[in-house]
Amino acid sequence: MKDVFSVLESEVRSYCRTFPTVFYRAKGSWLTDENERRYLDFFSGAGALNYGHNPEELKEPLLQYLRQDGILHGLDMATRAKGAFLEAFHEVILAPRSLSYKVQFPSPTGTNAVEAALKLARKVTGRSTVVSFTNGYHGMTLGSLAATGNSANRRGAGVPLTHTVAMPYDGYFGPDVDTVEYLDRYLRDPSSGLDEPAAILLETVQAEGGIRPASFSWLRRLAALAKEREILLIVDDIQVGCGRTGPFFSFEPAGIEPDIVCLSKSISGIGLPLALVLIKPQIDRWSPGEHNGTFRGNNAAFVTATAALEHWRDAELSDAVEAKGRLVEERLRTLAEAFPQESLTVRGRGLIQGLVFENPETARRVSQEAFERGLIIERAGPRDEVLKVLPALVIDRVDLEAGLEIIAESVAAVLEGDSSS
Ligand code: PMP
Repeated sequence: MKDVFSVLESEVRSYCRTFPTVFYRAKGSWLTDENERRYLDFFSGAGALNYGHNPEELKEPLLQYLRQDGILHGLDMATRAKGAFLEAFHEVILAPRSLSYKVQFPSPTGTNAVEAALKLARKVTGRSTVVSFTNGYHGMTLGSLAATGNSANRRGAGVPLTHTVAMPYDGYFGPDVDTVEYLDRYLRDPSSGLDEPAAILLETVQAEGGIRPASFSWLRRLAALAKEREILLIVDDIQVGCGRTGPFFSFEPAGIEPDIVCLSKSISGIGLPLALVLIKPQIDRWSPGEHNGTFRGNNAAFVTATAALEHWRDAELSDAVEAKGRLVEERLRTLAEAFPQESLTVRGRGLIQGLVFENPETARRVSQEAFERGLIIERAGPRDEVLKVLPALVIDRVDLEAGLEIIAESVAAVLEGDSSS
């Protein structure tokens, strides 16, 4: 069946090139292809499958909802499924954290959430410039692409990408340069050339940009600067929210409260498209229908999203993510130390960890070698030089160890193969 894709599908297809087989079924951390070969999933739909494939506790309520002819499409009309989600999100996520946000349902992808956030920030402040960061990734539509660093992605726009200014992210100039101070200097200088921004948009751990966690202190100082200068702070928690780093929101341990938060990917919990924009009530200045869309409010996704929130009634999952994250980090460090001549480094937070290679070609070969050994693992970073470890948050210890073992074998096969040839 493989040829159908190269013959009939656009050249834009990508992951099916990296993982060249035809999948047809998946459960938990495992995908099965049409030859009945099983693959362990360390990619998790780029963060859309934090609870694994087809989790029973989400699938069952969805099947029941479908059997009862529950509303599947209702524009943004009030439905029971939407009401239940809003109540559960308030009760399980916002109230226990003393967070006060209104919930906007934009169209259901991550980039839709970012577009809505940018539009609202510009409307509320009356300013147009948005500060984004080096290596940031926010989506492929023109507004969010303008805030995305990757030049190959930006080239695809075909028009100038405007109204954003990329500033250096934490650590961009090494550990000794404080990049909040750098931004602060630009903002204070009436002759710096930086127009007063509407918003600062960031990921707390840059995912696609190469698994780069900002320090909590950097985040706190950035939030304080934004507040002092009345610039809205937008956290894009699309990939590293929903528990990926441990806590539900990635920014919680930094103790900051963004003005706007974007969520998508794992918010539905089962891979159905859904996105949220969380808005501080005082800046919820939309007029009705001002930001519209046919597929706002995916009711099937509301059902699974409500069920997924059950995972967040206590600290069990966050604690487990932190423990598994430590295990992954330790194993990757041990692996890096085993090949001192390669200067491999490890960075990440919780269950998003990266093994950074100096040579992007080595990272590509390791990912390919891992695939041949039955592991799905993707790369990230400006040159795709970072192997990105992104298992389901609920992965069991046996599968986690098995995947880490395949990574170690694949790295050894590529590096030792090189040194012996
Ligand atoms: N923001 C971040 C941080 C992301 O990782 C992504 C997707 N990789 C997006 C936005 C865009 O989401 P989508 O692909 O659903 O448009």
